[in-house]
Amino acid sequence: MNEQKRADIVIVGAGPAGTAAAAHLGQLGVKNVVLLDKHDFPREKTCGSGISPKGIEVLRSLGVWEDVRREAYPIHGLRLVTPEGREAYQSAGDQMAAVVCARRVLDHLILKRALDSGVEFVPFFTADSLIEEGGRVVGVRAKDGREVRARFTLVAGGTHCRLGPERDSRRMIQAIMGWWEGVPFRKGHVEMVFDPMVLPYYGWLFPESDERVNIGICYEETGTKRNARELFQQFLDKQYGRRLAGAKQLGAWKGHPVAYSYEIEKLTSPGRIVIGEAGLMTHPATAEGIYQGMKSGMIAAEVLRSVFHAGVPETEALVEYERRCKATFRLSFLGGGLFRNLVKTPALDWLVRASETPLVKHTAAKIIAAL
Ligand SMILES: Cc1cc2nc3c(=O)[nH]c(=O)nc-3n(C[C@H](O)[C@H](O)[C@H](O)COP(=O)(O)OP(=O)(O)OC[C@H]3O[C@@H](n4cnc5c(N)ncnc54)[C@H](O)[C@@H]3O)c2cc1C
Repeated sequence: MNEQKRADIVIVGAGPAGTAAAAHLGQLGVKNVVLLDKHDFPREKTCGSGISPKGIEVLRSLGVWEDVRREAYPIHGLRLVTPEGREAYQSAGDQMAAVVCARRVLDHLILKRALDSGVEFVPFFTADSLIEEGGRVVGVRAKDGREVRARFTLVAGGTHCRLGPERDSRRMIQAIMGWWEGVPFRKGHVEMVFDPMVLPYYGWLFPESDERVNIGICYEETGTKRNARELFQQFLDKQYGRRLAGAKQLGAWKGHPVAYSYEIEKLTSPGRIVIGEAGLMTHPATAEGIYQGMKSGMIAAEVLRSVFHAGVPETEALVEYERRCKATFRLSFLGGGLFRNLVKTPALDWLVRASETPLVKHTAAKIIAAL
């Protein structure tokens, strides 16, 4: 097939980053935007689907929060298990602190918002390479030969997408997860289990409804490659054996890595902006990437608006994009690095033991929320 399409902006990938960029471009009145994905929607995405307070703020600004809130499971608290096996509960009282919204639902809701604002969506377009002319990116070519040419290309293809500039600082977190019904859990609580077998990462239980939960582990490969399924089984036996005894597993386990970097760099080149996990913008300690994807997508939309509607030169706009991404994420990514080191020491146990005092309880809740 040799079909060709033209747009002002083409976005490759309709995850949280791509759909948020598209929806925000629509909000800002930037027209002639084409959004591509290799899948049609709704589609599944391997993800814990936890959305932090900052993520909720972004959904509010995109005008999609009420739709998400209706579908999502509200979270009021956290069950934390330390490396020494100590257990603590943090609670936000009656306040909703976060939500869990299955990605099949979340991504589709943001996509619908983008479509309502006039964005054109092309499913089943598997981007294979960028089209480059005279030192600038001028669009994208699919595996089947179709092309979309545009003044700007936003790269939002997630973990495995290599359409961004090469990055030496690219690192990987491994993850594997499954879904169950009938696992007892404290209503409205997510769980983070810092078991020594996955440090400096953790295992989790995130409720998606009163009946259905997802459970997973994220971990780092160090030296010898570990078998993800064996590691997950060991974790489940140790941490969830009794609670899974009467539960029903839904579907197969799924493994998927998360790409990250402490550096926020090389996000642009003439005609191209990289957003979300394709730009390695995920949290180095928690593997959170939904908020970072959506936020970087919104920032990209705002700098592009400045080019199309305020005549800001492209070079300035691209520098501004990277500057704003740094200002937004850098501190929390560095904080993530500190946390990863801290969690390997007895500090988390100390904190949990001390958390009986109201002051420490309050401070610990703030630290966890800020992460
Ligand atoms: C097991 C696991 C659990 C996680 N849990 C959480 C969590 O609880 N909370 C959280 O915030 N984050 C979590 N994350 C991270 C989060 O899933 C990602 O960081 C986030 O989805 C990144 O958004 P994105 O839009 O950049 O990329 P993606 O969500 O990956 O979207 C990329 C889109 O691009 C499309 N695409 C890819 N390649 C092409 C191509 N060549 N052509 C066309 N389309 C293409 C894909 O089909 C997809 O729709 C988790 C990740 C994993 C693996």
